[in-house]
Amino acid sequence: MHDIWNPWHGCIKCSEGCQNCYMYYLDSLRDKDGSNIYRTKTGFKYPLSKDRQGNYKVKSGEMLRVCMTSDFFLEEADDWRDEAWSIIERRPDVKFFLLTKRPDRVAEHLPFNWGGGWENVFFNVTCENQKRTDERIPILLELPFKHKGIMCAPFIGPVSISNYLKYGQIEQVLCDGENYGGARPCH
Ligand code: SF4
Repeated sequence: MHDIWNPWHGCIKCSEGCQNCYMYYLDSLRDKDGSNIYRTKTGFKYPLSKDRQGNYKVKSGEMLRVCMTSDFFLEEADDWRDEAWSIIERRPDVKFFLLTKRPDRVAEHLPFNWGGGWENVFFNVTCENQKRTDERIPILLELPFKHKGIMCAPFIGPVSISNYLKYGQIEQVLCDGENYGGARPCH
């Protein structure tokens, strides 16, 4: 089962794929501004929340898609990320799906005890066109993650990734909504 964890909301547009950001669109329908970035009140500790019986609401083995209305590596979220990492560390039985348009910020914002990467984190970069593919995948290949993938959404131009598959690091390639619980990713 797939669920969503949004520890913060709002984002800054940073590349071509942001032009028609779905989060900005949804916020505009509520007369909100998507560039208003804030830490969510009730949602921040969602992976640790429990029901009345004391059981985790997010069950063991589930996958949580993280920051679907923002970007986990957004600069404006730097003060909140360490706490989010600690929550991810406390749920090794849950898979956390991270997707970013900012892989250049990742190396400097991993937790101190990251080592070679945590088994429960699935790291993905967005490849909406060839320019961003050639920019982000080389960074992806250098980063210490146990599980790596790419998301081709929104497709706004032809994309070839064949040059990068030979390294055997990319576990999955997702396109708009595919294998994604039908949810529309923001980034
Ligand atoms: S949420 Fe995603 S698509 Fe929207 S502005 Fe941020 S990075 Fe861009």
